[in-house]
Amino acid sequence: MGLAAALAVGAAAQLPDADGVAEAKRAASDWIDANADDMRAINRNIWSYAEVGLQETRSAAALVDWLRRNGFTVDTGVAGMPTAFVASYGTGGPVVGLLAEYDALPGLSQDAVPRIQPRPDVLAGHGCGHSVFGTGSTAAAIAVKQVLEAGNLPGTIRLYGTPAEETGIGKTYMARDGYFKADDVVLTWHAMDVTTSDFAFTKALASVKFRFRGVASHASMAPEQGRSALDAVELMTTGVNYMREHIREDARIHYVITDGGGQPNVVPPTAEVWYYIRADRHEDVENYFAWMNEIAQGAALMTRTELSAVQVDADIHEVLPNRTLAELIHENLVRVGPPRFTDAEKEFARLTQAPLDGEFDRALSEVIEPLPDEPGLVPASTDVGEIAWFVPVGALQVASYTYGAPIHSWQVVACTGMSIGEKGMFVAAKTLAGTALDLFASPELIERAEDDFQEIRGPRTFTTLLPEGQRAPASIR
Ligand SMILES: [Zn+2]
Repeated sequence: MGLAAALAVGAAAQLPDADGVAEAKRAASDWIDANADDMRAINRNIWSYAEVGLQETRSAAALVDWLRRNGFTVDTGVAGMPTAFVASYGTGGPVVGLLAEYDALPGLSQDAVPRIQPRPDVLAGHGCGHSVFGTGSTAAAIAVKQVLEAGNLPGTIRLYGTPAEETGIGKTYMARDGYFKADDVVLTWHAMDVTTSDFAFTKALASVKFRFRGVASHASMAPEQGRSALDAVELMTTGVNYMREHIREDARIHYVITDGGGQPNVVPPTAEVWYYIRADRHEDVENYFAWMNEIAQGAALMTRTELSAVQVDADIHEVLPNRTLAELIHENLVRVGPPRFTDAEKEFARLTQAPLDGEFDRALSEVIEPLPDEPGLVPASTDVGEIAWFVPVGALQVASYTYGAPIHSWQVVACTGMSIGEKGMFVAAKTLAGTALDLFASPELIERAEDDFQEIRGPRTFTTLLPEGQRAPASIR
């Protein structure tokens, strides 16, 4: 049966049979192969822009232009963020959403070479592989659109441009403003050093800034007139470091001082410390946040300064895994196959392994990890959690950089700016497109994913530390 015949359903809205779905997947895969050069070019552009969260102007525009040229309707500047967008094609259900990220990480400037070499023109780098992430997801959305259009199939495919993932902001405010909630299923992926369908929880995370106000004074001539806001920050961090002894083992608390005063001869009148508070369960994050508020008030009391602001920029929940989607993605991943690398790519990766601790039996992963029976736990966080509490979410990781390299490292930047990361990107795009087409073809799969979602969400109550009505921040710092 030809593709047109398999998908010629039109007004009758019949769904394609198994042969038809297989042919649709081949068509999507062919589209991705035929557009590989465009995908590489877009990845390299976004990679070279290396724009950090909420400043991804050119990166978002590259994806928006590509989607518009391919017949998507795109709303830009959604949820109060200039670099957030929603692209949509089709009408009615099922509705399948795909996620794209494109923010880089500050301090990770790196060229696409196998040794540490920052680029002279930028300070940031794609140490989380979001250039291949955004490009791969967008390609999947366009490939699915081509197939829906060719077969006149009912349904809607959406591509969400979600900025500032690294600070948990983009999806948090988009979800808060009601995006994603009308989708039947949301699919996503991420660059990793291995290839696997995701069946795991992540950690919940709150991003909070504590600001103190003191009194400026000459630090030597009139110290008695001054009150140091920096002292309050230091005492707060000391207090929180003592608190660590009495929190659950799965919790993680890390911080940077984003304002520590100007220079030593001025008693700092303002100071700020920025915390990430993480735990396996969101309710624990809420408890530790409450404790840290008391510590901050104590620090202000001790220093006779004022706790002038507690600013919750983002509060994200743990991702809830979905068995049906994990299995479906795994099947599609096996069909597509893991990325295969050339000897030159393996040599490149091997050189980037040299500074890492440990022995590695491979330079790059070329296998698909088995799907675990029980959900695992990833000790990282993602604002995908804000979606996964409302809609079934499926995800995969694809080997796109040096085996054994940590995410957020120069090795990731180096590999995603060249063919290694792009091989992962092609596998991800084909797997996402295939999975989406299975969902379009089978309402039964969507029902099962929804049942799984209801079961795992079951008794959980959604609460957030995000103040009601708070607008998305205009900048990270
Ligand atoms: Zn990431």
